[in-house]
Amino acid sequence: MKTYKLLTPGPLTTTDTVKKEMLFDHCTWDDDYKAITQKIRSQLLALAHVSDPEYTAILMQGSGTFGVESVLSSVVGPKDTILLITNGAYGERMVDMAKYHHLSHLVYSEAYNRVPESNKIQTLLEAHPEITHVAMVHCETTTGILNDIAAVGKLCHDFQKTYIVDAMSSFGGIDISMKDNHIDFMISSANKCIQGVPGFSFILARTEALVASQGKARSLSLDLYDQWLTMNVDGKWRFTSPTHTVLAFSKALDELEAEGGVTARNKRYTDNRRLLTERLGSLGVKAYLREEDRSPIITTFLYPEANFDFADMYRFIKDRGYAIYPGKLTDVDTFRIGNIGEIYADDIENLYNIFKDYLG
Ligand SMILES: *Cc1c(COP(=O)(O)O)cnc(C)c1O
Repeated sequence: MKTYKLLTPGPLTTTDTVKKEMLFDHCTWDDDYKAITQKIRSQLLALAHVSDPEYTAILMQGSGTFGVESVLSSVVGPKDTILLITNGAYGERMVDMAKYHHLSHLVYSEAYNRVPESNKIQTLLEAHPEITHVAMVHCETTTGILNDIAAVGKLCHDFQKTYIVDAMSSFGGIDISMKDNHIDFMISSANKCIQGVPGFSFILARTEALVASQGKARSLSLDLYDQWLTMNVDGKWRFTSPTHTVLAFSKALDELEAEGGVTARNKRYTDNRRLLTERLGSLGVKAYLREEDRSPIITTFLYPEANFDFADMYRFIKDRGYAIYPGKLTDVDTFRIGNIGEIYADDIENLYNIFKDYLG
């Protein structure tokens, strides 16, 4: 099998030691396994600078989207209204969820290359007192733009709204304090910056807000409160859990700590991003976003020339050991390169040389 490293925003390249954890078929009702789930739950809270019992962690089967849908369909009740802030595909996916579940909702959508403005959000909150919940994406992986979760959190605190943050592609790679940002529900998944493999998402919740959602769920399998009720007893999952993924994730969390925590990982990702934009910039490949809006997670690049063939370049790069990501914009031709996962400066230098050969 010809392998390659992933320069994509999840699944991403994991360590061999994380992959090796999956060579064991673990029993699910066994005490050792439940202890692993409990260990993961407390490590996740610590990463968000909060602790039990004020905050709690829930693991949910399925990819990241299942985690977001679990929150939206479980905590927005029939008398509630949610404000959805969007500037990319993942924010728009939340709007789709709101439609599927018939949630009363309002949308503030910003251009893909612009951070949502807190004065516009404040105006909406003032004009619509019926709003009870606000949801926003932290790093919009569509472009890699980094939204201001702190400013919106302050507004949610001032206006007493329940605040939901999709921190899927940033949690573990960017330091986030749930409490300082007034976040009630934060969602991420196993296969992003914690550097595990796909298979489940997780939700960090302010316990009081979670308990207040009891009875509001619109789906059985995604019922966040019910999932928590079972898991919170002793770490047993409500339905079959992705055992191999859980073992790998536990190892990935230990490796994050060994690397030096979120601070060290953020530095590595930021260094990757800086080197990548410098090197590609020297070849005339320019980043799409303004520098101050870019995250260290993933970078969107404009096609270097009009008649550029992405599929051809993708094959050329893949044959040389790396997989990159197509763009997701409709109005401008772009491709994306992820800086996250088990990726180092050497990989970026390798990629630069491959690009240079290709463009040459
Ligand atoms: C990856 C990601 C998701 C979830 O996507 P899945 O394909 O369901 O894992 C949601 N939001 C953001 C911002 C993401 O980057």
